[in-house]
Amino acid sequence: MSRLDNAFLESILDEVRPLLGQGRVASYIPALASVPADQLGVAVCTHDGQLFTAGDSSTRFSIQSISKVLSLTVAMTRYSEQALWRRVGKDPSGQPFNSLVQLEMEQGIPRNPFINAGALVVCDMLQSRLSAPRQQMLSLVRRLSGVEDIHFDRQVASSEFAHSARNAAIAWLMKSFDNFNNDVNTVLENYFHYCALSMSCEELALCFRYLVSPELCNVLFRHELNSRQVSHINALMMTSGMYNAAGEFAWRVGLPAKSGVGGGIVAIVPGKMCIAVWSPELDQFGNSLAGTAVLEHISDRLEFSVF
Ligand code: GLN
Repeated sequence: MSRLDNAFLESILDEVRPLLGQGRVASYIPALASVPADQLGVAVCTHDGQLFTAGDSSTRFSIQSISKVLSLTVAMTRYSEQALWRRVGKDPSGQPFNSLVQLEMEQGIPRNPFINAGALVVCDMLQSRLSAPRQQMLSLVRRLSGVEDIHFDRQVASSEFAHSARNAAIAWLMKSFDNFNNDVNTVLENYFHYCALSMSCEELALCFRYLVSPELCNVLFRHELNSRQVSHINALMMTSGMYNAAGEFAWRVGLPAKSGVGGGIVAIVPGKMCIAVWSPELDQFGNSLAGTAVLEHISDRLEFSVF
């Protein structure tokens, strides 16, 4: 079995580089379309705090739907299990992340918190409970990663707000079913800001260590989140974190993970480490094409699949 160090990660990136050019950078959010495509980075943070990196690991990018894990985490600390899971499901959707079809059939209850509809419900719940939802998210991310100068990319947030018809339609449809309590635009603004958090692979690997083990969660969340909740978040990442490619990803990589259309993916190796990869070009499911391949190679070589 290979040994995890910077040289190992470099060698994986070299193997994957030929894939650059085969995917497509997200363009439905105009501010993302201009991100140079040929970038590739990886960072690993182990349970005992060692950091290994390769490639563009310190370049910041828009974390997009990776933020859905953070908003869910905050909601789990503020709502009872019963109150939260009444409004959003726990099952894979088998549909694209921005789909509306199931919402109409299922009375405005989204399948899971990692598709847009589910994340919007979670943000609606946070709007009802937090006094300053954006500032509180920023403080959390800074505290978890230990990096004080993490910010929202306001250009990305306003670019998405200017092209928000689909997410607005999702929110309004849920409102028609009484599953959305606050002003739609206010919640959309918060959601777009969370998606527009600008972070590097290194910062993400540090930030998501709380999902690696109950011990790390206790230290980082000061007992606000328990080990059962950490298992629940990992279970949802495993079944729904990669949208309608979740099955394929479980097959190829075998780890709980969450992607974003900025090209980032965070994967958890339970008990061992957090891995963050980034490459802006996406496959047809909206997941990073080269990033998935990097995770597949790491998981293969180090025998990380949980299956
Ligand atoms: N902000 C994006 C959207 O709502 C997030 C999608 C994603 O990263 N998959 O469409």
